[in-house]
Amino acid sequence: MATIAPETTGAGWLDPFLAAWRPGTGEPSEVREPATGRPLLTLNQATPDDVARAAAAAAAAQPGWADTSYAERAAILRRAAEIYEAHRPEFGTWTQRETGAVHSKMHHEQNFAVGELHAAATMPFQPYGQLVPSVVPGRLSMLRRVPAGVIGAITPWNSPSVLGMRVVAPALALGNAVVLKPDPQTPVCGGAMFAAVFREAGLPEGLLQVVIGGAEVGEAIVTEPNVNRVSFTGSTAAGRRVGTLAGGLLKRVSLELGGNNAFVVLDDADVEAAASAGAFASFQFQGQVCFATGRHIVHRSVAGDYVDLLAEKAKRLRLGDPYREEVDLGPIVNEKQLVRVDGIVRRSVDAGARVVVGATHEGLFYRPTVLTDVTADQPAWREEIFGPVAPVVVFDTDDEALALANDSDYGLTGAVYSRSISRGLALAQRMRSGMVHVNDQTVNDEATIPFGGMGASGNGARFGGQANWDEFSEWQWLTVRDDPKSFPYPY
Ligand code: NAD
Repeated sequence: MATIAPETTGAGWLDPFLAAWRPGTGEPSEVREPATGRPLLTLNQATPDDVARAAAAAAAAQPGWADTSYAERAAILRRAAEIYEAHRPEFGTWTQRETGAVHSKMHHEQNFAVGELHAAATMPFQPYGQLVPSVVPGRLSMLRRVPAGVIGAITPWNSPSVLGMRVVAPALALGNAVVLKPDPQTPVCGGAMFAAVFREAGLPEGLLQVVIGGAEVGEAIVTEPNVNRVSFTGSTAAGRRVGTLAGGLLKRVSLELGGNNAFVVLDDADVEAAASAGAFASFQFQGQVCFATGRHIVHRSVAGDYVDLLAEKAKRLRLGDPYREEVDLGPIVNEKQLVRVDGIVRRSVDAGARVVVGATHEGLFYRPTVLTDVTADQPAWREEIFGPVAPVVVFDTDDEALALANDSDYGLTGAVYSRSISRGLALAQRMRSGMVHVNDQTVNDEATIPFGGMGASGNGARFGGQANWDEFSEWQWLTVRDDPKSFPYPY
């Protein structure tokens, strides 16, 4: 049962749902607000047995759902979108309090979650196969997409509503069931909200199971026989473990992992526009997004102006409790992450990086930081920082910029600023990255595009648009012939 802390309760639509919610039978755990340390709610974590029960219920419900008419599946997704819209302020509050998101990030997340529902609601209307020619005269040869079955969805705390909805909505649209495990820091905006919305929308019982817990519960989902596919979003380290477990079971797994994204500013760029975009891309949501800019690669002739502008913007950003104050940056999500971010900065400074601004913190509030004199052997260059830190390096030629941009194990997203579209495009096309933007920054996503990365940013999986058909369905080849074929066998 979830116990809501007194301060969290109100006349909320979710309150009765949360009061009755039983996401697990394991140990109770408390969720605290990063900005204030105040408790938000206490709930029982799931156990591996709970995961097995949830997956069995999902597997039992799935075939009936796959047989439900496309119009009815789409109608439930549209209703879910309406219900989500109607309760956005409340969902936004939970998002801000569980994650520490500022208002703009919170609104973006709510918009995106609703957008995913709208996009998914169109999927049941789309053609789900093809007729293909056959070498056998008179044989009807059909390719059709069938649901994958039960999808195990594992999501992180940093954008829980978007990253959950980008799996749950298309997976349900195509006739699957889902076992969803958000991060234990975000059980409401990454889990309970989904369960409540889809229940109200009329989704049949059993199809969406939400379990709460950490790595042990995640691994139970991956190894659970009733889970047919796994959709994992999180760190590269955990993704490797998930991929190894799933691979041993011959289970298909989609891994959307970390990033250390390059932002290239050429000598002919609009430096003011580039600096404002670069500041946003490194500092918004405290830099805690997979597609944040982790490396600013700037032409020597404009680097001085660029760094000055970036530092000036960093100084102006207001830090505070994003739920109760109008601020630009909230807290780092927890002490462990803060120590990690600060450790990367300290070790880089020890190795020769220079702090232009920032690199201090009060509690979990880390000042936006600009580093120069960054070299390729420093942690600020090599590692995904996942904090509000902008390391800057300079280059002289476009080839050098490209080599620097590609000097990373990751390959999620990238950006190039240039007044010459052809020059920008030439560089963008050679960047080893799943997504690249010319004259826009790295933090970009839309429900219509195949989101995902190369290298250590994933295993080639893509979420969104047409890619969702690959993620959440399987091909089946069906043939039919009028005359039962006999074989002159043995020859
Ligand atoms: P994390 O890997 O620690 O946790 C992510 C989720 O995986 C959580 O639900 C966690 O409980 C679960 N988990 C952890 N270990 C597991 C295991 N061994 N087996 C199964 N599940 C396990 O990541 P995090 O620190 O919470 O999130 C930040 C990371 O996520 C960053 O690296 C960020 O770049 C990445 N991310 C990637 C994308 C993308 O689309 N590529 C989007 C958002 C975040």
